[in-house]
Amino acid sequence: MFGPIEFPEVPPGDDVVLSATTFVTYERCPEQAAGRLRGVYGPESRVSFVGGLAHRVFARHLQSGPIPPEGIAAACREEIGGGMNAKLGSLGLKPSQLTAVIEEVGQLYQRFKQLGTEGFAGAEVSLEVVPAEGVLLRGSVDAVFTDGAAGTRLVDWKTAGLGDPAPQLAFYALLWTMDRGEVPGRVEAVSVGSGERSDEVPTTAGVQATAVRVAKVIGELRTTWATSGEFIRTAGPWCRWCPLLDECSEGQAARAVFDA
Ligand code: SF4
Repeated sequence: MFGPIEFPEVPPGDDVVLSATTFVTYERCPEQAAGRLRGVYGPESRVSFVGGLAHRVFARHLQSGPIPPEGIAAACREEIGGGMNAKLGSLGLKPSQLTAVIEEVGQLYQRFKQLGTEGFAGAEVSLEVVPAEGVLLRGSVDAVFTDGAAGTRLVDWKTAGLGDPAPQLAFYALLWTMDRGEVPGRVEAVSVGSGERSDEVPTTAGVQATAVRVAKVIGELRTTWATSGEFIRTAGPWCRWCPLLDECSEGQAARAVFDA
């Protein structure tokens, strides 16, 4: 038992490290997720770089206090130098383009500051759980707040639209429950860019259902690796950004439909 959760048995097999992103990807298209686990990622994009840098700046604010407007550029450059140089290099931005990126992050930061930080308890909180031999579940929650009697609130910041945050939030709720032994009081996704918000009060039954979904993913990964190695391909609008698109006829057909 992990707190109130019983993680279902999974078949033995190869080691699996399942992150929130890989779990969400698997439920959308198993082959794309299997590609991630083989180390096949898409190229760094400007959008993801801006999002990653903004998250670093948000965490800096939460951990060290507000950043004055005249300090944003220096803070961004320090964060880039502290672990984002390789991503910056793969983007090949010219200095003028980097200036525009920093301005964009500064605008996101101004909106972020309006959100309030009452009850802040931790930023970029890493969670790791080993529910079965050779299986590691892991994730990093952007921010954790304590809301008095309402309990712990886990927040995921989005710098673009919200999309469908439910599977990712469910994964975080499961990790928190298994790691800390109690169901979080609330999980929410907040778009810093648009102001949209999506939240949910998890229940023990709901978290247990997520454990079943996660165990199913692990079971399918191990079984497929041990047999055909051929994962189901589920095509959709997401194929446009899939790094396997060039070699995937299903994805190319879907892209033709969605681009028509
Ligand atoms: S291109 Fe689409 S269908 Fe093919 S692996 Fe990628 S997400 Fe799946």
